[in-house]
Amino acid sequence: MDILDNEPPVAVNSRKKKFLGIYFSCCNVYGRIYNYSGKQYEGKCPRCLRHLTIKIGSGGVGDRFFIAS
Ligand SMILES: [Zn+2]
Repeated sequence: MDILDNEPPVAVNSRKKKFLGIYFSCCNVYGRIYNYSGKQYEGKCPRCLRHLTIKIGSGGVGDRFFIAS
């Protein structure tokens, strides 16, 4: 495998996923936060409405489930 130097542009990565499944540890509930800008995911806890933002890094947050702390 010699694809290490071939990093895809962030824009391509971030366009794939429109939302991120997330676990809000503040209220022990699961929810989704959405990618509006292509740069970060934004959303609110469905119970306490606490705002949450997750930035999409160079490797992207990928497609893993996230836990809000
Ligand atoms: Zn909450």
